[in-house]
Amino acid sequence: MNSESLAKTILLSFISLMLVLTATAHASPGFMTPPFDDPEVRLQQGWFYDSPGPLRCRPEDRDHSPFCHYGLDYVKGEVDKPATWVPFEVAAVADGKALYRPAGSKTWGNYVITTHAVGGITYYTVNAHLDSSPLPPRKWVPITRGTPIGTSGKSGLANGVVHLHLEVYEGSLKKDDRVDPYDIYDTKALYPPHGVCGEHHLWSECPPSDLPIAGGTYFDGNFGLIGTSFLFDPSSSLGSLNSVDITGPPGWHNDASFQCFRYQPPGAAPERSMCWDVNTPPVTGQYSAQAEVGNELLEARLSIDTASWLEPPAITKLSVLPGQVQVEWTATSQARSFLVRVNPVPFSGVTGEVVVPGEERGTTLTGLSLAGGAQYQAVVFAFSRDVRTPESVLNPFNIGAHGVVFTAPRSGPGYSEIPPE
Ligand SMILES: [Zn+2]
Repeated sequence: MNSESLAKTILLSFISLMLVLTATAHASPGFMTPPFDDPEVRLQQGWFYDSPGPLRCRPEDRDHSPFCHYGLDYVKGEVDKPATWVPFEVAAVADGKALYRPAGSKTWGNYVITTHAVGGITYYTVNAHLDSSPLPPRKWVPITRGTPIGTSGKSGLANGVVHLHLEVYEGSLKKDDRVDPYDIYDTKALYPPHGVCGEHHLWSECPPSDLPIAGGTYFDGNFGLIGTSFLFDPSSSLGSLNSVDITGPPGWHNDASFQCFRYQPPGAAPERSMCWDVNTPPVTGQYSAQAEVGNELLEARLSIDTASWLEPPAITKLSVLPGQVQVEWTATSQARSFLVRVNPVPFSGVTGEVVVPGEERGTTLTGLSLAGGAQYQAVVFAFSRDVRTPESVLNPFNIGAHGVVFTAPRSGPGYSEIPPE
């Protein structure tokens, strides 16, 4: 296959993939804050029921799966130890209106419904199994974020244990409109504090993980989907993480753990570190990550889907002058930041590199020591996350990259090339 027909094949695959992605993506308004203001409250259970084997609550099953819990259980006390659970004050997750229905349902017991208009969509929450509420019964009242709307209890079908069962609905109070505000729909191990939020979560800030890490795919403009990528926050309260050990689904990285070292090129935020392995094709599934800092072991879970990848940029212009390389490229608007790098061929270290914002389409690396007559490569790496700001670390972290090889001029005015289409 020549490079032109390869490029066409890749382009066609992009178009069909983009259609799929456009059809399934939904808004991520990020309006919720936790339904409590109490550091001792924990998530006991997310959108799953514990079950053996591969059966999980998946988004496509959410309307009928017996493995979906359709809500979040919060407890004040130790997770999995109901004897330690005590009541806590339940707070409104956002501004809106609330309705208290004492003994309003056999299942939910005393409950409060809240409504929130966000981006043209009305969201509802059901706060179930309350002991009591300070709100007037059976009357809609305005509330602001954090307003106390009740005390957790065990009214209704609460298995006799004090907890808050919180359901979130998108668009209407119909059963099929229930959504997981973490956008995870999977096992307990993925939910906070062990996991990270899904990409379309509803929280104004992703609840913290003790090891924020995201994963994704590496798509090379010349060779296709060839590698696996990771983004993590190395700035722990216990000290800086120098590396993270990652294990993946069966077959990934020859079933061995992969050491993702701290790598923070100029322009990246101190809270952002990335790594990738172009020799390890990604495998769809669940990954786990561990890091040691001080005497503590930090852990997280993440998932990678090989159907998700970022269109690589295309270098359109390369100009080499003494000590400097100017690069221009085109890229998809889904690129949130770029790393531009020059290195010798074969790779023996970085000659120069910088991270630039996602809206840039050109940059000049200066102060480079280029050996005349030697071969170098200029590479533009597009990232699906902005690695210049410490925003939430979310799946996926996909990389699309394109490189062009050039020979450094021995002398004279320099070198300029527009690579062939
Ligand atoms: Zn529940």
